[in-house]
Amino acid sequence: MTTTIHTLGFPRIGKQRELKFALEKFWHGELSADALEKTASDLRALHWQIQRDAGLDFVTVGDFAFYDQMLNHIQLLGCEPARFGFEAGTVELDRHFTMARGIASEATTCCGGHAHGSAALEMTKWFDTNYHYLVPEFTSTTSFSLSSERLFQQVAEAQALGHKVKAALIGPLTFLYLGKEKNDGFNRLSLLDKLLPVYADVLARLKALNVEWVQIDEPILALDLPAEWKAAFKPAYDKLSASGMKLMLATYFGALLDNQALALSLPTAGLHIDGVRAPEQVGGVVDALPTDKILSLGLIDGRNIWRANLDQVLATATDARSKLADRLWLAPSCSLQHVPVDLTTETKMDAELRSWLAYAVQKLNELGAVKTALDKGVDAAQAAFDASRAAAASRASSPRVHNPAVKQRLASLPGDADQRHSAFKARQAIQRDRFKLPAFPTTTIGSFPQTREIRAARAAFKRGELAEADYVAAMKKEIAFAVQKQVDLGIDVLVHGEAERNDMVEYFGEQLDGFAFSQNGWVQSYGSRCVKPPIIFGDVSRPHPMTVEWTTYAQSLTSLPMKGMLTGPVTILQWSFVRNDQPRSETCLQIALAIRDEVVDLEKAGIGIIQIDEPAIREGLPLRRSQWDDYLAWAGRAFRISASGVEDQTQIHTHMCYSEFNDILPAIAALDADAITIETSRSDMELLTGFGKFNYPNEIGPGVYDIHSPNVPTTDEMVRLLKKAAEVIPAENLWVNPDCGLKTRGWPETEAALANMVAAAKALRA
Ligand code: GLN
Ligand code: ZN
Repeated sequence: MTTTIHTLGFPRIGKQRELKFALEKFWHGELSADALEKTASDLRALHWQIQRDAGLDFVTVGDFAFYDQMLNHIQLLGCEPARFGFEAGTVELDRHFTMARGIASEATTCCGGHAHGSAALEMTKWFDTNYHYLVPEFTSTTSFSLSSERLFQQVAEAQALGHKVKAALIGPLTFLYLGKEKNDGFNRLSLLDKLLPVYADVLARLKALNVEWVQIDEPILALDLPAEWKAAFKPAYDKLSASGMKLMLATYFGALLDNQALALSLPTAGLHIDGVRAPEQVGGVVDALPTDKILSLGLIDGRNIWRANLDQVLATATDARSKLADRLWLAPSCSLQHVPVDLTTETKMDAELRSWLAYAVQKLNELGAVKTALDKGVDAAQAAFDASRAAAASRASSPRVHNPAVKQRLASLPGDADQRHSAFKARQAIQRDRFKLPAFPTTTIGSFPQTREIRAARAAFKRGELAEADYVAAMKKEIAFAVQKQVDLGIDVLVHGEAERNDMVEYFGEQLDGFAFSQNGWVQSYGSRCVKPPIIFGDVSRPHPMTVEWTTYAQSLTSLPMKGMLTGPVTILQWSFVRNDQPRSETCLQIALAIRDEVVDLEKAGIGIIQIDEPAIREGLPLRRSQWDDYLAWAGRAFRISASGVEDQTQIHTHMCYSEFNDILPAIAALDADAITIETSRSDMELLTGFGKFNYPNEIGPGVYDIHSPNVPTTDEMVRLLKKAAEVIPAENLWVNPDCGLKTRGWPETEAALANMVAAAKALRA
């Protein structure tokens, strides 16, 4: 017996982000299309060789994209939206980038890795990952036809290099489901019958290239699906199976649950399931697997960076193999595009931490080791198993990971540690008396323009080229500048401007114990944009205050209230690689305690208003609704723990953006922040209607202008929005502020917009 191993996909950016740099040069006109294609084919060749060297039975073709894999499918299936009006001769690559980026110069990015382009396709998160895909647009007249040769060329390319190929496609139902209807009164599912013949054409072409296996990804099978979508699977796959092609139906990011019987009943030669996110489903699927099906078990974590516990993986695999024999395949849980490429690039990381990690290349080697152990016995993969055991043992006992004081503090936390002393109404009265703010108080969300000088100073300090005293002086100068601007503008509650912060999570992670930073741990967020999430490897604590000096300096410059500015525990958790040896909720509570300490120190230092940003709270929602309550309960408790160490007279703000909030309003209200600022202007205050209907009890600042655009909004426009807001929220609870932080803006438009905003607030007072 031999075990077949494969991967659902490999990161395409390159271990030194080669693709990113080539793309950006190409966009700036500094690289030819041929040279870009050459970079891409070199990367593919390298990545296939890595798969081959790790002993995989196939290389995976179809996971490469210049910008995005959904966009590849839009082109493959011939459904580029008509609104782009491409002329017949426009080359595929140019169309790819136009759809992705719109008019290039208008594409701007901002905090959190989100992007806003003008005419570009909308971008949204790929399930619960931090990867963003481009959203297909459908109308009742959308038609499909096989319209790209790229996939077939890449298959031929791999074959020419001597590889055995498995092609990978996004399945028709997932493709449609993740798209959006662009005209009313039509259901995109009705396009399925037009779409399936094109999939059949694609499969026929792959067959003609002698491809034996096609992986067809239907990750929506891990979601709560409407009945009509479930019902569409069987007839669709009946049609696809007519191709005679062996299909490996791939599911990931969660358990199949109510879709399990459906997935098992489809006429595909194989099924892949995620055994890392949902280990509890493995036994049931193994037992229920039809005798003519292959099961691909995803047992190596494709979403996180930890070295696998190979003994555990081998135990699960051995058990499955005793029942399935040759019908068992092994793989990472999902595509490896969600982890960095190669750990050997981490030359500066300490050896102990590095020994705990595995990036994509190492994960494939782990897979190879499990195959060897299964086929030839563990002794044949001794070195890999030894290293895995050593890592597990040292993580279990390392004092860097385990801090008894942190565990003790969490264990003995009083049940009401997440409650303020008094209820909101009482706090509000005390705070009104203390701050004596005018009606419709004005404020901003935290950051001010990150100018070239600020970035240069931070970078020079990091490189050791700027002495600490000079750096501090430079940042203080920026703070003083921002404070003076706000005073001149007549803003009521000021901020220090966040000049010293490169990133709202990294800034805190760098100062907390239990966090590490990699040199090259890049993962693609979208297009050429990559992020390097912090690594939370141990119990989290705060060795020293993180923001108190900057904030008190800012406060010393003015008698107006200076708002302290912190990132909340859920957002820090959400934008990091999180340890897998304890529940996420526990790690989140540890971070919450560290933030709580900072909040208390700010209060002691005389800061009366403190904002705890939680822009990522909604994106942490589990894929399945049945798990929402549990998540919202611990996430809410973590936020409240961070916020509740203070007296009634201290005002806690929070901020959220990029979200639909209406379905989690009770949870947002339960955070019990004294004031919340939210992004609303792009939806013309529609978002706020939900808060109004729900009778949101506390104070609220609906963003009155969109900070993603350099346009300066008029006072009249902001007055209009505020009046609209006042129709649904009691006027005495309204704040006036922009949608989000201003770090991506320049000073001229920032000043002009804020001047108009202050005028709008004054107009409302009058
Ligand atoms: N305080 C942060 C800022 O203003 C908030 C950023 C965010 O919401 N993503 O930049
Ligand atoms: Zn924001």
